Amino acid sequence: MKNEEYLNHLRHSAAHLLAAAVLELWPNAKKTIGPAIENGFYFDFDFGDVKLSEEDFPAIEKKMKSIVQTWKGFERIEVSKEQALEDYKDNEYKTELINEFSQNGETITYYKSGNYSDLCEGGHVEQPSKEIKAFKILSLAGAYWRGSEKNKMLTRIYATAFPTQEELDEYLNMLEEAKKRDHRKIGKEMQLFHFEEEIGQGLPIWLPNGNIIKEELEGWAKKTEAEWDYQRVTTPVITKENLFFTSGHLPLYKDSMYAPIVIEEENYYLKPMNCPFHHKVFSSSPRSYKELPLRVCEYGLCHRYEDSGSLFGLMRVRGMDMNDAHIYCAMDQAVEEFINVIKLHEYYYKMLGITEYEMELALRNPEKMDKYHGEESDWELAEKMTIEAMEKSGVPFKIVHDGAAFYGPKMDFQIKSSIGRMFTASTNQLDLYMPKKFDLKYIDKDGQEKTPVVLHRAPLGTHERFIGFLIEHFGGNFPVWMHPSQVAILAISPDKHGDYAKELQKKFREAGIRVNLNIEAETLGNKIRKAQGDRTPYMIVLGDKEIESGNLAIRKRTGDNINMSPDEFVAYVKEKISSKSLEL
Ligand SMILES: [Zn+2]
Ligand SMILES: [Zn+2]
Repeated sequence: MKNEEYLNHLRHSAAHLLAAAVLELWPNAKKTIGPAIENGFYFDFDFGDVKLSEEDFPAIEKKMKSIVQTWKGFERIEVSKEQALEDYKDNEYKTELINEFSQNGETITYYKSGNYSDLCEGGHVEQPSKEIKAFKILSLAGAYWRGSEKNKMLTRIYATAFPTQEELDEYLNMLEEAKKRDHRKIGKEMQLFHFEEEIGQGLPIWLPNGNIIKEELEGWAKKTEAEWDYQRVTTPVITKENLFFTSGHLPLYKDSMYAPIVIEEENYYLKPMNCPFHHKVFSSSPRSYKELPLRVCEYGLCHRYEDSGSLFGLMRVRGMDMNDAHIYCAMDQAVEEFINVIKLHEYYYKMLGITEYEMELALRNPEKMDKYHGEESDWELAEKMTIEAMEKSGVPFKIVHDGAAFYGPKMDFQIKSSIGRMFTASTNQLDLYMPKKFDLKYIDKDGQEKTPVVLHRAPLGTHERFIGFLIEHFGGNFPVWMHPSQVAILAISPDKHGDYAKELQKKFREAGIRVNLNIEAETLGNKIRKAQGDRTPYMIVLGDKEIESGNLAIRKRTGDNINMSPDEFVAYVKEKISSKSLEL
């Protein structure tokens, strides 16, 4: 049995156990379903008028521990529809399921362990009393029966189970750490971004501190792309609808686009992606093979309609700035260009201390072949070239048979954050379809007109998602080069030390260092707490001693202290900034 399958069986078995415990404690509760999910399981109950709270968790867990000792196995019992309906006559949820199962011609089965049995199709561990030992109830939520708002709201109990206590502890620690590092929490503490009901859901405002991070990241991308021979363009955020009919996004992708704006009786759409605009850059003049590969890049502002339920902080938004580029090249250049794109990702990740990552190639779902456009031969060729590039790159990858774009296979970069969460950072594509749709041409060596291959790439994803990730990856402790306030100067006495503090501030600023000056009339303890709250990399406390000696006492965010002259310190910080050091 594969590990994942075993985990699912273990967790679903633990869900039975959870229901058994709940029903012993609240005999009038009605049980519904309890599946395994990623990282755990849940069980939905109708508790009637009873309100459950987190304070009930220890009692439920205790009950689970005592019941499980009597569970030696799961016994499969076939029952008739009539018997099942009789057994569950007071439970309208199970009644609904029983009727459905029998309509579909399925055999109705119970699974029984100890004194507890449940309507179930199977998928359990063999020795529950030995195997279900490391579990934890995590949270409560409301959930509609069968996910429909028309139905009754049930109480969902989320929990998890692991084969060993060590694995469970590790997972719980990760959850704790993730809570501390939640980008929404840190974003508020460090005043990085803000959402405003009056502006609209999913449309972030970058506050001054967050904007610095955004501009540092963008400046880095611009410099890097210039070095890698990309050319920058700027394209409009709205366009006549025809452009998206040409690309095939309309009507196919319409549900993910904002409704059109009518100008002079024509429909204009906010762009959900930059591709068609870059295709127009390519076709703006006759192209020769000598110009290829032509790499067109832009931080392009896109808007996509995401339903309000799926919006989540910066991670899922409706307005996003994308680190986008399209590479136009000849067929025999495509694999090498794709490998270069992978190398660019590796460069960025290395600089940001992201050490674990892999690629995932999404191909067509064989059951939904009508979803995809383009010729079969192009699909096969695009798949073959993408796989060749991925193999040659040496980065580990896996293939999934779903999730391709309608015009070609899609390669995602999955990165692991410092707390071990996997995260889709960017999507890249090798595209033989759009160049034909847009009738892109270049004159080859032999004087013949040919169609280029297009690569879509966005290594730093969108500012929103990527910075959301970086906040959690660094836990707000950004490296010096991207930190909003690199140095804090705290004057012990505003009167006695304020002037020198300002002098230092001026000196540092002239050297291109971002300084936060605190000469307020408040205690030093307060000043230090504020600077720590900002996660400032370097804190300088100025008092009589520092002014007399001419040496600065610098406290690093890590707790280490260093002493140096102002000139030495400027040189020290400038080196950390220019090398994009992850160390302080
Ligand atoms: Zn079951
Ligand atoms: Zn694109």
